[in-house]
Amino acid sequence: MEPLFDIRHISKYYSAKSGAFSLDKRVVKAVDDISFQIFRGETIGVVGESGCGKTTLGKLILHLFEPTSGEILFQEQDILKLKGKELRQFRKHAQIVYQDPYTSLNPRMRIGEIIGEPLKIQNLGSKEEIRKRVLEMLDVVGLVRDFYGKYPFECSGGQRQRVGIARALILKPELIVCDEAVSALDVSTQSQIINLLEDIQKEFGLTYLFISHGLSVVRHICSRVIVMYLGQVVEMADCEELYENPLHPYTQALFSAIPLPDPEQEKNRIMLAGDVPNPVNIPKGCAFHTRCRYATDRCKTERPKLNDVKNAHLVSCHLAENRVFPKEE
Ligand code: SF4
Repeated sequence: MEPLFDIRHISKYYSAKSGAFSLDKRVVKAVDDISFQIFRGETIGVVGESGCGKTTLGKLILHLFEPTSGEILFQEQDILKLKGKELRQFRKHAQIVYQDPYTSLNPRMRIGEIIGEPLKIQNLGSKEEIRKRVLEMLDVVGLVRDFYGKYPFECSGGQRQRVGIARALILKPELIVCDEAVSALDVSTQSQIINLLEDIQKEFGLTYLFISHGLSVVRHICSRVIVMYLGQVVEMADCEELYENPLHPYTQALFSAIPLPDPEQEKNRIMLAGDVPNPVNIPKGCAFHTRCRYATDRCKTERPKLNDVKNAHLVSCHLAENRVFPKEE
């Protein structure tokens, strides 16, 4: 199957300089040599602790950030080479829904203007046509048409997130990046928004890149999941396979923190040693070795490759290379 997006060796480094005259030449590797494909109609999750590069990766795929290196192919074209009109054309195909709908919605604009703005920017229709389309979008996201004239401060968190989804959807994109799109919502609103995302995915044939630290939500909505640590992919697999059989020690620790109803299973929680290392000083070899309970001397010097160990289950760990997987304690 042809991928919708083909991400090839994408990296994004930032200078760690503290001022214009600083001699500090160190770099922060926010995203470091990541490759994967996104297939039409799937929901691919991206998980990992705060600061692991999830959001940077999402924004690179939308070409909202300039990468340091790499290629992102969409319809056989490297979107990172697009400029001006061509880049504006690409924006119709890929949109984003942010975590905090309040700060992402202009408080001085009415909901109708906010949702219709992408059509106006793209010059897609007369004032009346845009109004008609916005009213249809309000129906699609489950908001009554009265919201057209309201301001963001008059909406609840869930209603604002519906507005954010309507704004992303109005250009009929193929990919929507959901960047912690339900994380700021209470549990019942969260499930309503998840249901809405699932419904519109079926109706419009959407593909999602679902960035979240909510591991239970990711398990519910995603078909495939990427686990990131310090800007690198450490594991990638089909969702059920990953949750049932996590192979990377970092993924095992991350998943062991998911609350379980059975107190006996709680005993198996794996406590990660230490804090996440400073991203300007990523450990040599395996970036996880300073916190890994299985680390060996080899792990301190040699960076493991991301290898397919079985049926598109990819793991970046020397133990996985030798098929010697750690047993749960
Ligand atoms: Fe742990 Fe070594 Fe595997 Fe890294 S390569 S996760 S340090 S066992």
